[in-house]
Amino acid sequence: MKIFTTKNEVSQYLHQLKSAGKTVGFVPTMGALHQGHLSLLAQAQQQASVVVCSIFVNPTQFNDPKDLDKYPRPIEADIQKLEQAGCDVLFNPAVTEMYADNENWHLDIGELEHLLEGKFRPGHYQGVMQVVHKLFDIVKPDLAFFGQKDYQQVMVISRMISLLGLPVKLVMCPIEREADGLAMSSRNIHLTADDRLHSLVLSKALIQAKTGFDGGEALTNIQQQAADLISHEPGTQLEYFEIADGETLREANSSSNSIVALVAARVGNTRLIDNVIIR
Ligand code: AMP
Repeated sequence: MKIFTTKNEVSQYLHQLKSAGKTVGFVPTMGALHQGHLSLLAQAQQQASVVVCSIFVNPTQFNDPKDLDKYPRPIEADIQKLEQAGCDVLFNPAVTEMYADNENWHLDIGELEHLLEGKFRPGHYQGVMQVVHKLFDIVKPDLAFFGQKDYQQVMVISRMISLLGLPVKLVMCPIEREADGLAMSSRNIHLTADDRLHSLVLSKALIQAKTGFDGGEALTNIQQQAADLISHEPGTQLEYFEIADGETLREANSSSNSIVALVAARVGNTRLIDNVIIR
């Protein structure tokens, strides 16, 4: 695997490969890699001839400085996992390589930015778009792979791509879970043994919602039951449980073509998100 830390070197290298007719598949990450990230990489390997992974803990998308400070950064282990998985290129820049002083970014994507996660993490999606736009500009991927785990993020990036007319195809990959249902996340290492048990209520509530929906139950009942289940779990603070239209992320209704149940909660000191597509 080739490892680059500067924009110029990685973009020159990829430019040569693209000139030789290779297609580039890109998997942006913040590192602390787990099977979820590696499943994106596997998808990229199937669909592109060269696979680039980036590891960059992007400060502009953290609205909580403590969360940024304690974000895990096991770079040596990550490199080993990528080597083993057969990744072709790793781009691992420093913050100073990615950002000059006093940079400004804003792209109006309407209410999508302020719903769900946006309510609880103000500014988060502007930071996400800012870094993903920079990374796309450097890597110039044909295809970019993002996880359904961050469903709203996929919609935000998709909106940015269409508003700016970026020449990249977005691919959404399914959520990888632990055997007991917990969605894999780099933040799971912060869960204590007790938190780890309590965290299962999220996937349980999502499965219950899907079962209720399949059984023809009303959306408002499903939402209320799930919220109740999570609110009664010790050590767990529900932020939202919403049944949303899969295209607009507004409240779903019977005419919604796709419907997603999305949840965010704090378990102990760790904030977790998860979702299930129920239609
Ligand atoms: P992160 O490093 O958390 O920014 O995640 C990098 C990419 O991996 C994003 O597109 C995430 O949606 C995706 N991802 C994170 N967790 C999972 C998971 N459990 N299953 C599938 N993809 C995931």
